Amino acid sequence: MALINTKANRTPEKLILAIDIGGTKMAVGLVDGDGDATHVDRTPSPANQRGDAMWDALNRLLDEVLQSAGNPKITGVGVGCAGPMIWPEGVVSPTNIVGWREFPLRRKLKERFVDLPVRLHNDAICMAIAENWKGAAAGHDNALGMVVSTGVGGGLIVGGRLVDGGFGNAGHIGHIVIDPSGPACRCGGRGCLEAISRGPATVAWAVEEGWTPSDSGDPLDGKTLADDARNGDEIAIAAFRRAGSAVGVGLASVAALLDLDIAVIGGGLVQSGDLLMTPIKQAFAEHAGMTFVKRMKIVPAELDQLAGVVGAAALFADGDRYWSPVD
Ligand SMILES: [Zn+2]
Repeated sequence: MALINTKANRTPEKLILAIDIGGTKMAVGLVDGDGDATHVDRTPSPANQRGDAMWDALNRLLDEVLQSAGNPKITGVGVGCAGPMIWPEGVVSPTNIVGWREFPLRRKLKERFVDLPVRLHNDAICMAIAENWKGAAAGHDNALGMVVSTGVGGGLIVGGRLVDGGFGNAGHIGHIVIDPSGPACRCGGRGCLEAISRGPATVAWAVEEGWTPSDSGDPLDGKTLADDARNGDEIAIAAFRRAGSAVGVGLASVAALLDLDIAVIGGGLVQSGDLLMTPIKQAFAEHAGMTFVKRMKIVPAELDQLAGVVGAAALFADGDRYWSPVD
């Protein structure tokens, strides 16, 4: 029987208050059941301050967004937060947020939003499920979403469901080992993908090789490096080749392990376009042997700035596709 979907007979819309918290900025918005985000607002994270600065800034942002939207009826609170964290309890200790060490973010939000379910996951996982729900990996039941930025993170959808692992950490592609004798990683390991390919490591490598910005007033960062690479600076080009190759090698291993349809790559360094994507695809093609490995598509992320907010809301999407704990 076909249901006539008019405003009059529709069941109340799902409306999720979605929160995306990182070391640089935090974002809050409202996301409906179709994945459409409205009233999205951002504020810089007071990440270097101790004490309650982060929590206070988050509450001010929540107040502003809820007021600007006319205090609508919301059905859940979804949160993506930088890790590490104890999951699913949502006790967070983000590396780049010094004021939050074992901060009970999920419990604090439950205290503020009594009667509403609060779900919280790693921000890279939220990016991956956002791309699977409404972005470049939509329609694929076997997908990796990953971010190459200040860090390298990711999340996995296998067999149509988010894979959590024992403590919610599955999909940490940044810490698969690419080069056993490679650089030390801030995780305590050595030769991890993140230690080689993250933005600051790529810039540091270029500097070690003798790169200086062609415009001496420009900062030593990924954007300047990308500009110089586009202008033909050979060290800058080699730095992107090195970072991208490591990602491509890692992707070949991941595709072999999991038989994936697609890998979606987002984050600052991917904004540099072909500079990173071309060496990623070349290295993948070199190392992917079997037909089922080769078949994995590698594409840039689509949701970009909104991925964190949409992904936080996705924790409530499609039943329990992206959320398995008993609330
Ligand atoms: Zn590592």
